[in-house]
Amino acid sequence: MSKSLDSPVKTLTAGPHHIIYAFSREHPPVMTALPGETVVFEVLDCYGGLIRTEADSFDPATWDRINPSTGPLFIEGAEPGDTLAVDIKDIEVGDYGIITAAPGTGARGDLIRKSATMIVPVKNGLVYFGDSFIFEARPMIGVIGTAPATGSIPTGTPGHHGGNMDTKVITKGSTVYLPVSVRGALLALGDLHALMGDGEVLMCGVEISGRVTLSTRLVKGRQFPCPVVETGEAYYVVHSAETLDEAAQQLVGHSVDLMTSHTGRTPEECLTLLSIKGNVQISQIVDPLKTVRMEIPKSILGSL
Ligand code: CA
Ligand code: ZN
Repeated sequence: MSKSLDSPVKTLTAGPHHIIYAFSREHPPVMTALPGETVVFEVLDCYGGLIRTEADSFDPATWDRINPSTGPLFIEGAEPGDTLAVDIKDIEVGDYGIITAAPGTGARGDLIRKSATMIVPVKNGLVYFGDSFIFEARPMIGVIGTAPATGSIPTGTPGHHGGNMDTKVITKGSTVYLPVSVRGALLALGDLHALMGDGEVLMCGVEISGRVTLSTRLVKGRQFPCPVVETGEAYYVVHSAETLDEAAQQLVGHSVDLMTSHTGRTPEECLTLLSIKGNVQISQIVDPLKTVRMEIPKSILGSL
């Protein structure tokens, strides 16, 4: 008989004591893991399980109780100034998703005349959208972040710490690089989507509960200008700001900073490469800050 070399799986369950609504150093960790250990996060949907039927509607006044996030997880050895690399090994989603519309919310809330809730079955990797469509599910993580050095950032807001980035490349097989600003990093995540389009224009995707399996690595003594997502082919620099214009302009600067420090090329060379091979993409336009991402092919950045 061969002995498995896999690390033991720790399960972090989303019980009432394992949920946060803000990223803050004040939240005591609910579990500790070593880098390389496999951890399973059980995650509630963004409504905290309160919407179960199409008769239940989302009340926008409860925005501060949105996106319950499981954690925080203390990573042994993580110190301020490091970067936490989170390898997403799997995202399993529940058997139904929730889509809500509420007047006045999202990109064009003026077009929504009354609140509506849609429950969509999700089975065998397919999303059954009413009688009209069956879509392939593409499970992703809406909220993933670490505690900031100071203050408290609601789980509805994206930022330098990660948080509600609603970035659909955060999916199975990708790695999310987040800054470590406090000892242990204090990783938390939530707000899974079975499917979401760039922009998230209604203000939600196919909101769903589930389980995320991940492990972490530490990049000691180095930080990036923004959260970065790595996929097989590219890096995505993720940045959020009050407006899309500001977000995009600042994103270009952060991307150039990342490229100059990792390749030794001049800012002009990096801008030129980004102009011909980088893609500025929109993640979401409906959260308190808007989120954009720069897709940088690995061929021009090398490995981080
Ligand atoms: Ca979200
Ligand atoms: Zn969501």
